[in-house]
Amino acid sequence: MSQWLPIEQIARSVNSGELKAQDLVKQSLKSISDNKDFDAIISTLEDNALKRASEIDKSVATGKTAGRLAGVPFIAKDNFLVFGADTTAASNILRGFQAPYQATAINKLEAEGAICVAKANLDAFAHGTSTENSDFMTTKNPHDKARVPGGSSGGSAAAVVLDMAPFALGTDTGGSIRQPASFSGCVGYKPTYGLVSRSGVVAMASSTDVIGPLARTVEDAAIVLDVMSGKDPLDGTTIEKQDGYVNASGDLKGLKVGVIKEYMKEGLSDGVRQVIEEAVSKLKAGGAEISEVSLPSIDMALAVYYIICPAEVSSNLARYDGQRFGYSDPEATTLEASYKLSRGHGFGKEAKRRIMIGTYVLSSGYYDAYYKKAQIVRTKLINEFETALKNVDFLIGPVAPTTAFKIGENISDPLKMYLCDIMTVAANMIGNPAISIPAGLSENLPVGLQVMAGKSKDKELLGVSKQIEEILA
Ligand code: GLN
Repeated sequence: MSQWLPIEQIARSVNSGELKAQDLVKQSLKSISDNKDFDAIISTLEDNALKRASEIDKSVATGKTAGRLAGVPFIAKDNFLVFGADTTAASNILRGFQAPYQATAINKLEAEGAICVAKANLDAFAHGTSTENSDFMTTKNPHDKARVPGGSSGGSAAAVVLDMAPFALGTDTGGSIRQPASFSGCVGYKPTYGLVSRSGVVAMASSTDVIGPLARTVEDAAIVLDVMSGKDPLDGTTIEKQDGYVNASGDLKGLKVGVIKEYMKEGLSDGVRQVIEEAVSKLKAGGAEISEVSLPSIDMALAVYYIICPAEVSSNLARYDGQRFGYSDPEATTLEASYKLSRGHGFGKEAKRRIMIGTYVLSSGYYDAYYKKAQIVRTKLINEFETALKNVDFLIGPVAPTTAFKIGENISDPLKMYLCDIMTVAANMIGNPAISIPAGLSENLPVGLQVMAGKSKDKELLGVSKQIEEILA
């Protein structure tokens, strides 16, 4: 049982003076300190958070209201620029880097009274599936400390499940919100590309990066999304939000739901298969019309992702040159040496691997063979999904082929690690919204059900997700 009320109730009670924002922040900080050994948190913003909480309490005492998220503590993945703490992206090269401005998402949450209490661990620069690529520490799974929490937003997922705050923020470039939500046991929402501004968030792959909430319930995730989303002049790819994310409701009766055939093939572990098949039966019993849908190009989505993503990563990481941000190697005596030493010592293995792959696929001799081909297949994928979503309302499947794996199990085999993303990357390649909803346990480890919708059908997806959450609970 969580110690937190639903977000809407917390804010209502703070606005009425029944709950004090300061107590909520203290409660959150205590939970963070009680759960220190899970290594979910990189830094806390104790002073800032308590100051903001006292301002909110004072303003409520004078009869004002403090917003839709009044006094609600939250935790941001450490790739969000937030005042009052370093922004490291869990990388050595950004150690000590202080935000010169705040992320739009953080500003919007603060404007409605939410309070950032801490920054969560991640795979450095969000490259990974387990948080083992963090240059600082590996977060432990809340259900089994010998296992990973998923990644790259593993710290955010663990923080929510360990009850450190009512919600946390993550980024999802190839599955990094949904997969840790599935491994750790919470709701993880990846919005339509462009719905939440990327301004002030450390870029990974700009054409697929999205920002979203990890929370205990779909309703909580919807409120956070509603506050964060919408057009932002600081991010030209942002789109208008729709009305009604929060009160969205859906009816399973007569709803056409397609189970993605390719995700249920061999390679899926027996435990996950069982939980997903049971979930499908429950949806059927709830009135959904279930069919099997084949998306033949989905088998290529992972290969496409691991060309396009490193290509964009290699470009986005070029800015960390030892001159402008974070670490600058003290041994360097020339500019060229500074570039080499700062990048050589500052980046971890995975960042270097992606820079090399990305540079290779973009090089003049190989551009047509890899990058261009990958873009062609990406378009094919977009078209296949579009056609499929004309025949069914939603697509469902697992989030990942397995439950949380053991710490150390995959780390020395990058290909094995990349394979963990096989069921999440397609949604990023096509830009559509997708969610991971807790569907049950397999050998005491959580399994998430993935639900995907058409582009900008976030409201519809949230509505049906509430129903599914209820049926699977
Ligand atoms: N696991 C994927 C990767 O390593 C996705 C990462 C992400 O979504 N940030 O690229």
